[in-house]
Amino acid sequence: MGTAVNAVSRKEAARSLADLKPTVVFVLGGPGSGKGTQCANIVKHFGFTHLSAGDLLRAERNSGSENGTMISNMIKEGQIVPSAVTIKLLERAMLESGNDKFLIDGFPRNEENRAAFEDVTKIEPSFVLYFDCSEEEMEKRLLSRNQGRDDDNVETIRKRFKVFLESTQKVLEHYNAQGKVRKIDAGRPVEEVFESVKGIFGPKVEKAD
Ligand code: ADP
Ligand code: AMP
Repeated sequence: MGTAVNAVSRKEAARSLADLKPTVVFVLGGPGSGKGTQCANIVKHFGFTHLSAGDLLRAERNSGSENGTMISNMIKEGQIVPSAVTIKLLERAMLESGNDKFLIDGFPRNEENRAAFEDVTKIEPSFVLYFDCSEEEMEKRLLSRNQGRDDDNVETIRKRFKVFLESTQKVLEHYNAQGKVRKIDAGRPVEEVFESVKGIFGPKVEKAD
């Protein structure tokens, strides 16, 4: 009881992430591996707030901000937007959420993202959920996603696969060396994948110090 009350007042009082001391799980996997789909299930079952770096960047692009054109061009090319922009959006979303448990989906995309996030926020993830899926399956899913995204075309999809292989794999290697990667076979049907996810989150996720 005391712990729950403390958690509530900490969330209300949070002015910075250092005050909030949030629990963070990074969710990584190639484009179309099912990160967003599984995050929606985790939110329902385990009370996390889902923050997709891609969604935050698309919202920022659409808001007409000064970075809008740069973000738009980088997304069209499947390139990684500069860390400073993405980290600022993540920080703001965490502080505005009223929660202290976050799934950060599609971030960190490269070693520079990872080091900058830890440096700026002083947050280390509790663990990293990695959705492992073949390119063939991911491409098939993206081409039938039908969300009107201008990067879900074959040419950009192939560029995004390349960025994932060349940049994001290094982030996975970093956390693997710390024993923090929870790898899931994401090539199976949604319900089966979620059974594996539940095995990782339940019954309780330890808070990061
Ligand atoms: P990501 O967030 O990793 O890019 P999404 O969750 O948006 O991926 O999934 C991409 C597409 O594939 C969506 O249309 C989604 O409905 C579908 N999808 C997600 N998981 C599965 C799965 N396990 N099997 C088949 N289709 C899936
Ligand atoms: P996603 O919605 O995760 O498929 O991301 C779509 C696009 O947004 C990517 O191809 C990048 O151009 C950009 N993006 C997503 N996440 C990040 C990130 N963490 N850092 C920089 N750019 C990102």
